[in-house]
Amino acid sequence: MTSQLELFVLGVAQDGGLPHLGCTQPCCINARQSGRVETPACIAIRNVDTRSLLLLEATPSITSQVALLHALIGTSHGEKAMVDAIAITHAHTGHYTGLMHLGKEGAATDQVPVHVSTAVANVLQTNAPWSGLVDGNHIALETFEPGRTFEPLQGIAIEPIAVPHRDELSDTMAFKVHGAHCTALFCPDIDAWGCMLEPLLCGVDVAFIDGTFFDDAELDQVGSRRDRQSIPHPTMMDTMLSIESMGKARPRDVRFIHLNHSNATFHGGRAAQELADRGFRVAKTGDRIDL
Ligand SMILES: [Zn+2]
Ligand SMILES: [Zn+2]
Repeated sequence: MTSQLELFVLGVAQDGGLPHLGCTQPCCINARQSGRVETPACIAIRNVDTRSLLLLEATPSITSQVALLHALIGTSHGEKAMVDAIAITHAHTGHYTGLMHLGKEGAATDQVPVHVSTAVANVLQTNAPWSGLVDGNHIALETFEPGRTFEPLQGIAIEPIAVPHRDELSDTMAFKVHGAHCTALFCPDIDAWGCMLEPLLCGVDVAFIDGTFFDDAELDQVGSRRDRQSIPHPTMMDTMLSIESMGKARPRDVRFIHLNHSNATFHGGRAAQELADRGFRVAKTGDRIDL
């Protein structure tokens, strides 16, 4: 029997967050002045029946994100301050380095299950400081096979789907979470949709997808400072066109996540309005959805 699940959004930014270290553009100057902080993309799944918690991604902001999760749920003081398992999409800094907080100098956890692909497991087992987490039994690595649904916690079924993304360190997954009433997709990082868009979105009700960059103008600006070839992502504008061409097969609820600090939709105005007018939205930290 499928359990009652709840999904929580705990962070919506690209790996470097907002404000972004070293950025001297208005996007981050304004954030610093107002105290606005957006943490890297992170989602939690809660099994309402068993009260167990799964974290999707261990971001550098894991400490504040897990605290936020317990605040959203209303965990009473002293009852619980951790999650029961973690699943990670790939080995880029914003997605796994929060594991450091589970180690000796941090929470010193006892065998928290961490679900990863074989390639990510290799990265963690063979490189310090991550190998110290494994050797010290602070985390227990569990590997999954792309395409094969696994159950990290009782009643929470996760389908990992391999997607194209810079693979110098590991492969990259999208996760489909199958609930009793609806299916959610978490696909924070992808180089190009290509023929993957329809299989990824097939049967999905709520999609959290790569919204790193808004349009080509933004990419040109960022690309003038960094090699554009090294940061391929479909723009939101291109993604919206592709999803619109799906017609009725389109998910009813599409929310962009993993936004770069420079993304105009992060900062209101015309770009945010364009999204709303076309029936899309940006994921918000604190969003809560019944699955
Ligand atoms: Zn910035
Ligand atoms: Zn990445």
